[in-house]
Amino acid sequence: MTTPSCPKCGHPVAADAGSCAACGCLTNGKVPEELLAWARAQPFDQEAFLADLREVEQTGGLELDAFIEGLLEPEAAKRDEQ
Ligand SMILES: [Zn+2]
Repeated sequence: MTTPSCPKCGHPVAADAGSCAACGCLTNGKVPEELLAWARAQPFDQEAFLADLREVEQTGGLELDAFIEGLLEPEAAKRDEQ
């Protein structure tokens, strides 16, 4: 397993780190090899993907407001728990 490194200075960076601890540059512009390997290893159900794609094509998908609501609701639920 290779350790991901900063694309700018080469300092080792955790796969889930958003920036390099050595130079502070953002590392999320370049996907670390470790994360790429993980993504490639994930199962991909092409039939399920195509079915979802057809549904979006037929229904026109969701309005942006619906996406935003879906993104905000989990955060609101977390706040209520604290
Ligand atoms: Zn760096």
